[in-house]
Amino acid sequence: MADLNGLGAVKEWGLELAMDLSDFRSGLISWDDVDNGALVSGPPGTGKTLFAEALARTCDIPIVAVSAAQWQTAGYLNDMLKAMRESFGEAQSKGPALLFVDELDAVGSRMINDSRNADYKRQVINGLLELLDGFERRSGVVVLGATNHPENIDPAILRAGRLDRHFFLSLPDAATRRQIFTFHADFSIPEEQEDGFARSTAGMSGADIKQLVRDGRRVARRQGEKFGFEHIVKVATPLLALPSEHMRVAAY
Ligand code: ATP
Repeated sequence: MADLNGLGAVKEWGLELAMDLSDFRSGLISWDDVDNGALVSGPPGTGKTLFAEALARTCDIPIVAVSAAQWQTAGYLNDMLKAMRESFGEAQSKGPALLFVDELDAVGSRMINDSRNADYKRQVINGLLELLDGFERRSGVVVLGATNHPENIDPAILRAGRLDRHFFLSLPDAATRRQIFTFHADFSIPEEQEDGFARSTAGMSGADIKQLVRDGRRVARRQGEKFGFEHIVKVATPLLALPSEHMRVAAY
């Protein structure tokens, strides 16, 4: 996977972590000297899962992916704590491993808004803190939390020594959207179409661009043609505003 849209940021920390893991494996340092983890945030589809995969690849460790929302499907405190412990236990059994916790902001939140909710939330957060750095800290588990709402994460989870690194993935700028397009489409955008592409994909995430490519490929396939930018024009209506050859193709 190319280093796109801030995913390059993973490299610096990834390499540092990889070196620490290697020192840990050779007994030079204890698990206490290895970073606990980090938080990656950003709007939906900006590559948070890709970030986790890139990190695991850089460190050459397996990844155990869970979602904090799944942890609490039952809603009962003990089930929630058990589910969290099981995830950490699974990562530990494969360790050193990356435990990727998607929707981390869901930790401690509960649908039922009753008077016990605050207490429930506190206990769940305390349970997670125990697993992160307390009595129950699992040796060999690096945690990467992901969220679309970093403001909803309890600050205790993010304090120094816990998930104390924060990577933010923003919506990609025009140049990055072009790169993401090329990455997924396997061809570059024709130069005369670059401005129109930038305009009509403004505000799109990496996931949106990938979907655009998928839709264009489908059109090409149905028409028995080799996939090209003209198929993208057909699926991206705003591109019809382009004063180009492609616009005329699409208009007919
Ligand atoms: P969500 O918040 O909805 O869980 P996310 O931030 O975890 O989304 P990903 O699952 O990592 O996003 O990305 C969704 C899809 O979009 C991926 O399949 C990936 O191929 C594509 N994508 C996102 N960002 C990029 C990028 N920077 N480069 C290439 N592809 C990308």
